[in-house]
Amino acid sequence: MREFDTELVRVLPDTARKGADGQLWVGGRPLAELADEFGTPLYVYDVATIRAACAAFRRGLAQYSGESSLIYAAKAYASVALFQLLAQEGLGVDCVSDGELFMAHCAGVPAERLVFHGNNKLESELEFALRIGVGRFVIDNLDELELLAAIATREGKTASVWLRLNPGVEPHDTHAYRRTGQLDSKFGLPIETGDAERAVRSCQSLSALQLLGYHIHIGSQIFDLRPYREAIERTFAFAARMRDRYGIVPREFSPGGGLGVPYIPDDPVLHLTEAAAMLAEWVQAAAHAWDLPLPRLFLEPGRSLVARAGLALYRVGAVKRIPGVRTYVAVDGGMADNIRPALYGAHYVALPGKFTERPAERVTVVGKYCESGDVLVREAWLPAPQRGDLVVVLVAGAYCLAMASNYNLARRPAVVAVEDGRVMVWQRRETLNDLIAREMVVAPKMTDIEFSPCP
Ligand code: PLP
Repeated sequence: MREFDTELVRVLPDTARKGADGQLWVGGRPLAELADEFGTPLYVYDVATIRAACAAFRRGLAQYSGESSLIYAAKAYASVALFQLLAQEGLGVDCVSDGELFMAHCAGVPAERLVFHGNNKLESELEFALRIGVGRFVIDNLDELELLAAIATREGKTASVWLRLNPGVEPHDTHAYRRTGQLDSKFGLPIETGDAERAVRSCQSLSALQLLGYHIHIGSQIFDLRPYREAIERTFAFAARMRDRYGIVPREFSPGGGLGVPYIPDDPVLHLTEAAAMLAEWVQAAAHAWDLPLPRLFLEPGRSLVARAGLALYRVGAVKRIPGVRTYVAVDGGMADNIRPALYGAHYVALPGKFTERPAERVTVVGKYCESGDVLVREAWLPAPQRGDLVVVLVAGAYCLAMASNYNLARRPAVVAVEDGRVMVWQRRETLNDLIAREMVVAPKMTDIEFSPCP
């Protein structure tokens, strides 16, 4: 087995190796073998990389003097098997819909470890969350506060809540679509407008709500951590005012998730242990500065736990050379399984499934869907690509499948996980029958056709 050069290692799963014959191996298995067995597009998760990321966060949090917990943001990628793996690692799950809550509940994640987020939780979702005993409701606005209180009162329950504060802080090093901490945002109770204070007062008067603490989440894919510090300081200054005015002291606090990960070798790298330790230090300093007790600290990462662990495997179907212009390499997936390049210009690295002696060519890897914007990797270097080659897109573990669609009635890919040479099928590929499962009027002939789940 051979190692990769240091720049590439930043965007590969921890166990990636190059076999003697040039094949790319992950988790003790050659990727080409997985592609042959399960078909493409195929998403592969390296379990060791996920476990290592959890351990890195734990080491950082160990430097916090108070209690702490790790919560996985399910929106990055949701599956029963992943939730079970993370629950074994001691994590809870942050959910934003009854769908995510249901899956986490089915996976056996203890309800106490579930955190329910969202800027417009439906009445039915709040009822469901109360019924399964969600540990924390993160109240996003004043309407929701009243609604939750009314439902909890009706059900004879007490809901444990955090208030999601909008601290008025904007991280500038991420795409505008991924910023959430600025005043002009659909998320959170602004401190600046007085909504946050109104929410504190309401919690005090509503016996169905138990205010445990505050939450902030300023955005996602952030490398420059200074805005977190600013947001933490503003939150604790607010907490101190609420203590002085109403005697309310937060027992818990979460600065959310959002830590950035490199997608291409030139991207910066955040050391997860150091980043977690830094957040912990800023929370300690802010609590100390305002003479507040250390709250139990919750970190809520999504991307940084699973992105680099995931790979997308595609098969080349067509190569179109336009001399002097560009070479298009069309693969059997694309924007239906990974919308990120089309949505916010995300960059990726594509590698060949097998490194050969063929000279590398600059190409554009495109998908098979009916949009010119269906580009996966605008500039990839692949060894003289040809039909049948395997193409591997790196850092595909977060916000790819999570945002996957059935555009063009694509079937969503299968997902396998690898660990120490073992392969676990996490999710089967969707079938043609899945695509018509919701149809209420179905051509009778079509229902007679049986399709196997894998190609
Ligand atoms: N917490 C909240 C409230 C979020 O909205 C998000 C994502 O946007 C996260 C955590 C996870 O962010 P990330 O995947 O960037 O770590």
